[in-house]
Amino acid sequence: MNTIGCPICSKPLSVTVAKGRKSNKPFIMLKCGVDGRHFRGFITDQDFVRRILQNHANISLPSNDKNFLGSISP
Ligand SMILES: [Zn+2]
Repeated sequence: MNTIGCPICSKPLSVTVAKGRKSNKPFIMLKCGVDGRHFRGFITDQDFVRRILQNHANISLPSNDKNFLGSISP
């Protein structure tokens, strides 16, 4: 599994799946495992999220995926 480091403290980011409260759509959240204030990113592309959920029981993300890099929030 590729590990994505926090830009602040370089520790691995935790990857979790959550659902939007209003939209009820699943999205993937990346958060710094040390302190959530360091970094938080959301992947909301529904096709991509669905593909991830289908293919991975334990979520691992390819770091070279264009959707992944394109959808992340600053
Ligand atoms: Zn951090």
